[in-house]
Amino acid sequence: VENDAVTVIPELLPVLRGIVGESAVLSVDDVTAGYLRDWTGRFGAPSGVVVRPRSVDEVAQVLHSCAAAGVAVIPQGGNTGLVGASVPLAGEVVLSLRRLSDVSVDAVAGQVLAGAGATIGAVQSAARQAGWAYGVDLASRDSCTVGGTIATNAGGLRVLRYGDTRRQVMGVEAVLSDGTVLSHLSPLTRDNTGYSVPALLAGSEGTLAVITRARMRLVAPPVPSAVAVLGFGAVDDAARSAGLVRRTDGLSAVELFLPAGVELVRSVVDLPALPPAAAYLLIERDGDADGLASAVADLPGVVDAAVADDAAGRASLWSYRERHTESIATLGPVVKLDVTLPLDRAADYLDAVDAVVTGVAPGGKVWLFGHLADGNVHTNVTGVPEPDVHAVEDAVLRLVADLGGSIASEHGIGVAKREWLPLNRSAAEIDTFRRLKSALDPAGILSPATLLP
Ligand SMILES: Cc1cc2nc3c(=O)[nH]c(=O)nc-3n(C[C@H](O)[C@H](O)[C@H](O)COP(=O)(O)OP(=O)(O)OC[C@H]3O[C@@H](n4cnc5c(N)ncnc54)[C@H](O)[C@@H]3O)c2cc1C
Repeated sequence: VENDAVTVIPELLPVLRGIVGESAVLSVDDVTAGYLRDWTGRFGAPSGVVVRPRSVDEVAQVLHSCAAAGVAVIPQGGNTGLVGASVPLAGEVVLSLRRLSDVSVDAVAGQVLAGAGATIGAVQSAARQAGWAYGVDLASRDSCTVGGTIATNAGGLRVLRYGDTRRQVMGVEAVLSDGTVLSHLSPLTRDNTGYSVPALLAGSEGTLAVITRARMRLVAPPVPSAVAVLGFGAVDDAARSAGLVRRTDGLSAVELFLPAGVELVRSVVDLPALPPAAAYLLIERDGDADGLASAVADLPGVVDAAVADDAAGRASLWSYRERHTESIATLGPVVKLDVTLPLDRAADYLDAVDAVVTGVAPGGKVWLFGHLADGNVHTNVTGVPEPDVHAVEDAVLRLVADLGGSIASEHGIGVAKREWLPLNRSAAEIDTFRRLKSALDPAGILSPATLLP
C-alpha cells in the first residue's frame, strides 16, 4: 500500500532545515528507508522527508510550519507498529521523535520521566537500576518508544498483572498541530483537575497530538516465579481455565498455544515434543513450582502438566510460546490479525476461524496463540495469495465482531483496519471521535489516513 508521489512542497524544506538544522532533515537523497517502510513491509513509500527534532520547541515549530503549509505529518517512534500508521502513504512528512530520548527515574516516588523517543528497553533498564520495574514489556522493547507505546496504548506480556500502557501514564507533554504545547507532568498520584489528556492520547495513534515527554508510574521488581505448561483435552477447557486461574494471586502470564503451533516451533527450534493435547496454556506465577502446581491442580480438563522454577526450565517452557512469531514468519507473508474475544466465546472462535478462512482462501493456514487471560488471540494466516488478503481480513474481523469481540486487541486500528472500525464503534462514537479530532487538529494534518474511516 503505497503512493510514490512525493508531494511535500519544496518551499517547506528550507523552513524545516532552519528549525532543526541541515542534517536533521533527511530528504529523498538520504538514507530514509528505515523510516518510510513499516515493520510488516506492507505499508510505506519509496521516498519522502524525515524531520528529526531534538526538543519540544523544535517539534512545536515544525508542526506550526507544516500546518501553515497545509502539509500532513506522521509522528514516528521506533517504527515497530503493525497497522501501517507509522509511515507516510501520500507525501506526509515523517516527524521522528527518537532524539527526544532522556530518561530519569525518581526512586522515592517510583516514577520515570522519559522523552517520547526513549525505548521501552531503556526505560526498563533505568527502572531496574533504581530498584524498580516498568510494568509494560513487549518483544519489540529495544526499538519501540515511550511515545509510540502511548499512542498505540501498547499491551504486551504483562497486561494481566499491571494493565496496558494507559494504566502506567500519569502525565504527558504534547504538541498540538498548531504548535501549542500542552504540559502536565506533575508527580502527584492524586490529581483530579479535569479532563485526562494522557487517557485521551493513549490509543490516539498520532491523530490528536504529538507526544514529546511522559511521566509513568513504576512497579515493584519481579520476584522469583514458576512456569507451567498445561495440556488440555478440549479447547473449551483451556478457555475456561484461562478465566478461572485468575482467582489465583501472583499471576503474571496466561498464554495460549495449539498443537500445530508447537509442531511448527519445533521444526524451527530444538525443543522436546509436548504430550498430545487439544490446546496448551502457559501459566507464570510468583513463587515456586510446588505452589504453582497446587494453584492449577483443580483446573478443568488438564491432561498433562510440566512445571519449572529454575531459569533454564522456565525459559525452555516460554520458548514454545515466544518462538511462534518467528517460526510463522519462516512460512512466507503473514496476514496478522490481533483480536480479543469475550472469554466465554473464545472457544467458539478457535473452533470456527479455520473454516471461515478456508471459505475465502482455500490454501490459508491459521496459527493461533495469545494472551488468553485477557481474551487476546493473535490470529496469523499464512498461504494467502495477495488478492485474497482483504477477504481473509474481512471474514475474520466480522466473525470476531459477531462473537462480541474487539477487532484490535493491542496493535490499534491504524490504516490497516480503519474500514472495519464501525464493526466495533457506533456512528455516534465515530462522530464524537471526529469532533475531538477537529477540535485538537483543526487543520487535519496529523496522520490523516489513520484510525477514522
Ligand atoms: C516483534 C514485535 C512484537 C510486538 N509485540 C507487541 C505486543 O506484545 N503488544 C503490543 O501492543 N504491540 C506489539 N508490537 C507492536 C508495536 O511494537 C507497538 O505498537 C508499539 O507501541 C509501537 O511503538 P513505536 O515506538 O515503534 O511506534 P511507531 O511504530 O513509530 O508508531 C506507532 C503509532 O504511534 C504513533 N506515534 C509514535 N510516536 C508518537 C508520538 N511521540 N506522538 C504521537 N504519536 C506517535 C505513530 O504515528 C503510529 O500511529 C510488536 C511489534 C513487533 C515488531
